[in-house]
Amino acid sequence: MKRLLENWRKFINEEHEPITTLRIFDFDETIAHTRSETRVTEPDGTELVLSDQREFDEYMRTKAEELGIEAFDPVNALMEQGYKIDLSDFSIVKDPEEITIVTDEMRQFPEDSKTYVMTARRSQSLGPILDYLEEINIDTSKVRPIATQGESKGATIANMIGQKRMEDGKSNINRVEYYEDSDKNIQDVMNHVCSNVALDDIKPEGFELIVYKVIKTENGYSLQHIGC
Ligand SMILES: [Mg+2]
Repeated sequence: MKRLLENWRKFINEEHEPITTLRIFDFDETIAHTRSETRVTEPDGTELVLSDQREFDEYMRTKAEELGIEAFDPVNALMEQGYKIDLSDFSIVKDPEEITIVTDEMRQFPEDSKTYVMTARRSQSLGPILDYLEEINIDTSKVRPIATQGESKGATIANMIGQKRMEDGKSNINRVEYYEDSDKNIQDVMNHVCSNVALDDIKPEGFELIVYKVIKTENGYSLQHIGC
């Protein structure tokens, strides 16, 4: 009977709070450097190539401002206005170079955590991304892939925190570790997780968001810690 009770208690505890940490990894320039380019043809025929995330973000920000587009991801609105935007490099993993300062962490898989790859790419990229993770010996049975398709990662993460609640109404998630290179995404996640009144009653005591910002340096990469 005692054993039964113990097992039952263990089961209940597992049911209620096995996972307290979400580990969320961006893909491009976080897990791996890739040579994905975005090719743009503007309505007047001007052609240009955006060779990395920074150029992409900068171009989209400028165009959105110029044309009064308010969407988080202006790609669709621009295409409706006659811009041709070729994102096909992002449906594959092109010439990847592993960023080991990140993947060494990713391979740890602490027991109380769940691990996600969260990319702003479109969903057809998830197969190639998982194949690549297998190639670099990351156990993909422990990784859940999410494609936000250009939409807000902050909103997605806030939603994940709110999803599983304890009896007191608080989330069972008390820690989010977020690995990301893009300033725009980091700012968006901090806005949605750190200063979001809708989450104030849901975040448990001692809740922490830790952002590991991936920074390219002269001889590799470093991680800068930010958070709330
Ligand atoms: Mg990135």
